[in-house]
Amino acid sequence: MPSREQLIKPFVVPVFIPHAGCPHRCAFCNQHSTTGQGTSMPTVSAIRTAIQDFLAHRRDPRRPTEIAFYGGSFLGLPREQVQLLLTTATRFVQQGQADGIRFSTRPDTIDPPRLAWLAPFPVTTVELGVQSMSDPVLESVDRGHTAADTCRAIALLKARPYQLGLQMMVGLPGDTPEASLATAHQLAGLAPDFVRIYPALVLRGSRLARWYLRGQYTPMDLEATVTLVAALFQIFARHAIPVIRMGLQATANLTDSDQIIAGPFHPAFGERVHSAVWLDAIARHLERHGLQNTEIHIDAPTRLLSQIKGALDANRRSLMDRFQLSGMAVRADGELPEDRVLINGIACRKLSALIED
Ligand code: SF4
Repeated sequence: MPSREQLIKPFVVPVFIPHAGCPHRCAFCNQHSTTGQGTSMPTVSAIRTAIQDFLAHRRDPRRPTEIAFYGGSFLGLPREQVQLLLTTATRFVQQGQADGIRFSTRPDTIDPPRLAWLAPFPVTTVELGVQSMSDPVLESVDRGHTAADTCRAIALLKARPYQLGLQMMVGLPGDTPEASLATAHQLAGLAPDFVRIYPALVLRGSRLARWYLRGQYTPMDLEATVTLVAALFQIFARHAIPVIRMGLQATANLTDSDQIIAGPFHPAFGERVHSAVWLDAIARHLERHGLQNTEIHIDAPTRLLSQIKGALDANRRSLMDRFQLSGMAVRADGELPEDRVLINGIACRKLSALIED
């Protein structure tokens, strides 16, 4: 069995089942847009072929591999279909081609009878689409479950040997940065194994798109979303909870077509958030060390140079301006670990300011 740490970054073989098991369409969602797949439930033979094709792209066969059912609400499906899908994926585990199975599902599909369906199968990870812990926000997007349902689902899952992942969204109708921060604090307190954070986007064919076109919904702008998600990332970091994805993956289907009508989409959204976290860490360091009206030299791990400088040098310009710096040089240092930089020779860790606060 792979370790818990290994399973956080497995090689994931996605099988998309758009909207399968969903009791209705949540207002922000259009899985056909997101996945580029028209059919809700592929046939068993199509699933087998898709898994085999995807496995052929695995470069490191030693990396733990999970077959993932995404895009729907897995445990909302009838029992026979859940068992058919799990049986199909289990064959690959039995043949040594995969190590486990994961799926995403709604909190209100988690109950003891359904969890009992999973027992004979090598399920390793369950991801819950939480979206928000604010009941008014959940209601405004017609989720059909409450924050209390999420707490109950998490308690049931934590009593079982699954990796638990939670997905939250920001910028939904009725949402505010304060409500998102409160959601992150509550989720962090529930100690999941990992988290994903998605900004709400206006997807073609969703109810949100209709509201947007009628002027009834205004999405967050990109910069405000990056700043907010950076703050959420820091909350989870304080609890040592990995945030494994921030922002929708920039698949060809999303970026080459006109599926995104509006909203804070960026193909490197996660990179932008990490850059914002570095800006905060360096600013705190400069404040703490009284570095103003002076020149600073930052030695940074080579791979992080663009994150530290910010897109189009935005971090550099912001720090120069805020601290009235006479100069700011950023140099690559291939020896530094990826969680720190040296500012005028003194270590500044990406998350140290958070721990000290
Ligand atoms: S958000 Fe989840 S439950 Fe809601 S429609 Fe989309 S896939 Fe289904």
